[in-house]
Amino acid sequence: MIHSRRPVLLASTLPAYTLSLTPTGEHPMAACPAGCGRWVLIRRHVMMNHPDTPGATPCPGSGQRIRIDVTFEQWRQRLRDIERTADYRRPSPSRLQPQPPTPTPVCRIRRSAA
Ligand SMILES: [Zn+2]
Repeated sequence: MIHSRRPVLLASTLPAYTLSLTPTGEHPMAACPAGCGRWVLIRRHVMMNHPDTPGATPCPGSGQRIRIDVTFEQWRQRLRDIERTADYRRPSPSRLQPQPPTPTPVCRIRRSAA
């Protein structure tokens, strides 16, 4: 696999939620830091080429070298710390409820001529 000439990224400098590690260290993945945001497999410390559709222009993040310098436990702890902060949570979706029509005030109701 050919890596890009860009400098090596350290996994510890990436946000924890853009990294996916396993306890065994197999199949680490990262969200592409070049901007496309796709989850890409890291093999031999190099991000795989993506997108893998034939004829597509490869993302500039393809071949990015990444050094996994955090353990699975450290990464999980960073993820837990982020989950506790309010910044990570999404706001609940607001749903507009239809408003019932406002009735005519009693003072404006005219008596019918009877
Ligand atoms: Zn990309």
